[in-house]
Amino acid sequence: MRTLIIILIASFTLAGCGDQKPPSIPKNNQESSALNTDDHTKDMDRQEEKVEPEQEIDNNAEKNEELEAGTVEPKYMVNDVYSIVPISDANPKVVLLTIDDAPDQYALEMAKTLKKLDASAIFFVNGHLIDTSEKEKIIKEIYELGFEIGNHTYSHADLTTLSAKEQEKEILSVNEKIEVLTGERPKFFRAPFGKNTDVSKKIAENEQMLLMNWSFGYDWNKEYMTKESIADIMVNTELLVNGANLLMHDREWTNAALEEIVIGLREKGYETVDPSLIKTQRDPE
Ligand SMILES: [Zn+2]
Repeated sequence: MRTLIIILIASFTLAGCGDQKPPSIPKNNQESSALNTDDHTKDMDRQEEKVEPEQEIDNNAEKNEELEAGTVEPKYMVNDVYSIVPISDANPKVVLLTIDDAPDQYALEMAKTLKKLDASAIFFVNGHLIDTSEKEKIIKEIYELGFEIGNHTYSHADLTTLSAKEQEKEILSVNEKIEVLTGERPKFFRAPFGKNTDVSKKIAENEQMLLMNWSFGYDWNKEYMTKESIADIMVNTELLVNGANLLMHDREWTNAALEEIVIGLREKGYETVDPSLIKTQRDPE
């Protein structure tokens, strides 16, 4: 029974965030794409104990405390190919929306669009983009609209080219800044170009941040730099499956297409998963 079927191992080059710097990722470091499968979901089911209704009632006080503390019982987890898989009986037909390289020019507008549509997302921010009081205000506003703020390093450098000390600065300075602005340290870390190192993995672990690459994204490719083309591919790609982790960016064309993308995903039956329901190292075992 315990079969993990990785359907697609990458002839795709999913080197995201490549529009700031050319990715030029060595073959063995490229993020491969794999589809989440139902078999994998079954594994997750088996590992989790079902919560009976009576228990849920008994746990209400605890849940309220959790809600007040800003945490809720996790319903999903991230698997080894960064797909979102349900714990127990949560709806498997979900996708995770992520917006990287924020807040450049469109992040706040994108957050407002998503809010209007009642769609959740993680905004992965770069520290160098929040160096002005105006941008600080934007981060606070995005956070207050209910979105998760993730760490995408200070300068969007390729971490594999930096010393341990430099990597530490790239990552920790962003957590410190975000904590000052929102009162909360990021729970999710996305390395620029998806390129982690042993050092960045260790820092993320110490900071209790979940490492997160993605399943697919297109908006840094020239052919998808229009509203029409990005809206089409994000919804019609064959990589769109249960639990897909969608990478988008703070870009003009993605901003313009965002509403259409969310509506298109919903028309295909996908819910946008609330990142606060994803299990991280901060949730108790
Ligand atoms: Zn990026």
